[in-house]
Amino acid sequence: MVETRIIDGKGFAEALRKRVASEVTAFHAATGVTPGLAVVLVGEDPASSVYVRNKGKQTVEAGMASIEHKLPASTTQAELLALIATLNGEKEVHGILVQLPLPGHIDAQKVLATIDPAKDVDGFHVVNAGRLAVGLDALVPCTPLGCVMLLKHHLGSLAGAKAVVVGRSNIVGKPIAQLLLREDCTVTIAHSRTRDLPAECRQADILIAAVGRPEMVRGDWIKPGATVIDVGINRVPGTDGRSRLVGDVAFAEAQGVAGLITPVPGGVGPMTIACLLQNTLTAARRQVGM
Ligand code: NAP
Repeated sequence: MVETRIIDGKGFAEALRKRVASEVTAFHAATGVTPGLAVVLVGEDPASSVYVRNKGKQTVEAGMASIEHKLPASTTQAELLALIATLNGEKEVHGILVQLPLPGHIDAQKVLATIDPAKDVDGFHVVNAGRLAVGLDALVPCTPLGCVMLLKHHLGSLAGAKAVVVGRSNIVGKPIAQLLLREDCTVTIAHSRTRDLPAECRQADILIAAVGRPEMVRGDWIKPGATVIDVGINRVPGTDGRSRLVGDVAFAEAQGVAGLITPVPGGVGPMTIACLLQNTLTAARRQVGM
């Protein structure tokens, strides 16, 4: 039986936010510039509204300017593209984030493609995805960046490790795989058409679950001692009639098998906003030529 250690993403994210805040103070002292993050929310999706509120609060706590644009669900694509073009040109805006999902009548790809890649702090623009893929400096999607930070903090060098990423979305699975490749892991990307998923997972020294299916990865899919990063956030009915959050990994079954594991909540989740703040500072530094 392996002793399983829990990765404290919440504590790590708090420390990262403090570090970014002190770097923002030094950046402002050196340049007179306050990094600014513009967040655009279209419609009133309750989960998105909570995310946007938290982002705004943590941006201000880090000493940056938070610029919020809350638009009605009836906003046309042309109106949204015009707002992004304005934000692209504003000197005090260093990062632009358009909260997803967008209402069905708006083409999200078109919107993301309109953001200036230098201000694309979500790292979803094809220019940033391409730069990451060819090994150039890029603004990297926040959740994947957070996952790899946690891995490097706990494991040190990842070189030579066998990593299996379950999920191949553009915002999580693919960029995580690219980052792990950059760290010299041997990477397998698994997805819904993978033939024997449990067998693939059992090969992994580092197992990343980014699927969106509650507790799909079972305890006996995990190689003893492996490090497990659970990106999934799934709301399921609880025993008390209220809903609760679970990840993509059967956390209780993973105890005694995994060497290290992120819990849900409190693992990967808090890293996303912390990395968004770091990306905003990085974007501001590059825009002033640092
Ligand atoms: P997504 O776009 O729906 O992608 C899910 C991926 O999982 C797809 O590549 C899909 O394969 C694969 N998949 C689905 N069913 C599968 C199965 N039975 N076996 C193997 N692979 C399967 O989801 P996402 O946006 O990447 O998000 C994944 C999870 O991460 C969700 O729970 C989401 O809430 C969470 N998330 C968390 C954060 C955070 O912590 N801050 C941020 C983003 C996302 P195909 O490509 O073949 O369809």
